[in-house]
Amino acid sequence: MKYVFVNGIILDGTKDMKPLKNMAVLVDEGKIVDVVPANSSGISGYEVVDLKGQYLLPGLINLHVHLASSGKPPRPNQKPTNYKRLFQVLTASRTVKSVVKKMEAGCAETELMSGVTTIRTVGGVLDFDGQNRDAIKKGKIKGPRILAANTGISVPGGHFAGSIATEAATAEEAVKHVQMIAETHPDLIKLMITGGVMDSSSEGEPGVLRMPPEIVKAACDEAHRLGFTVAAHVESPAGVKVALENGVDTIEHGAKPDEEMIQLFKEKKAVEICTISPALPYCEFTLEESHALPVAKKNGKIVMDGIIACAKACIENDIPVGLGNDVGCPFVLHYNFWRELYYFHKYVGVSNAFSLYTATLRNAEIAKIDDITGSIEKGKSADMIVVKDNPLDDLRALKDVSMVIMEGKIYDHPVVKKNQKVDDLLDKYM
Ligand SMILES: [Zn+2]
Repeated sequence: MKYVFVNGIILDGTKDMKPLKNMAVLVDEGKIVDVVPANSSGISGYEVVDLKGQYLLPGLINLHVHLASSGKPPRPNQKPTNYKRLFQVLTASRTVKSVVKKMEAGCAETELMSGVTTIRTVGGVLDFDGQNRDAIKKGKIKGPRILAANTGISVPGGHFAGSIATEAATAEEAVKHVQMIAETHPDLIKLMITGGVMDSSSEGEPGVLRMPPEIVKAACDEAHRLGFTVAAHVESPAGVKVALENGVDTIEHGAKPDEEMIQLFKEKKAVEICTISPALPYCEFTLEESHALPVAKKNGKIVMDGIIACAKACIENDIPVGLGNDVGCPFVLHYNFWRELYYFHKYVGVSNAFSLYTATLRNAEIAKIDDITGSIEKGKSADMIVVKDNPLDDLRALKDVSMVIMEGKIYDHPVVKKNQKVDDLLDKYM
């Protein structure tokens, strides 16, 4: 279908974006073929989509996604989940596996319907992310563009070892695991270098280093040799340094920075992916609200402060910062990526425009897909969203999208099932 989007106010996703009026966006075969003055003669022959004064912006890009979980919070007094055991149950038979894969596809569809047109998955069950990516590409199911890490690599006893990450005990094993994952055709490799809030049992060590430097180096070298970038879960200063020194390309989360860490980021041309959404509930909610252990609340604060300080320092030093919301963690739901943009503005102190640019063109550049998507520009994929109010005035405008356009396909008034209880809790931090 050939569409022309008229009467919209365009925010194009670039760093200095300003609301652009009286322009028409021409879409043909899934691509933006031109952006022209609204009174141009060239728009005849296109079906008109009247945006009635609403805002048209690039679809959002979420760089840190786990499709294996919905993000539903734990019940009161719920025992901590044994993820290794759960993984065994979820992969026990073909039938269960196909149910899990479908459930994950449902999470991906929710991302799309909430305005996220590209996701980068960083640790999932087997190679289901890649399988869903391919099914979406073929048009068999609805969903966003997926860049898939498939399963991650951890160490015995490490972060999510034996569930959404394999367990590599030695450098040789890590190399083999990279090769095994490479055979499932991922888009990147994910490492779990330190612990996290969910698996720390003592105060002060949410990011204790679990993966020895020689394993990090072996995995990164092999991944790079095979043409993949490496994203790594890192939540402590010591972990960030080991990650950067040994070849990690994107530091997922981050930690309290110092001069040495910033120099390493620059030297290695690495990137930080800021993820405030998973830390906030642990840190800010009361224990009655989060149903978390006191130790998780304390560690949540360390992680949240570290992520925010790391993002601030990176921005001050011209080190690229991307955005993801670690969706799948407790209280982080698949339709709530817009909240991460809001937190980025609120806690890191960037402007609304910079936050929106980060979640669109900047994230596309970081994921090396800015030739395909991330902005409203001639030649790019028609990945766009429509919202009623101006997100540059208030990012809460992104909460409800009135239209999603994915590779030129229009979803008018997309519907997502919301969890009112979780949203009420989170709305207090808006
Ligand atoms: Zn994660």
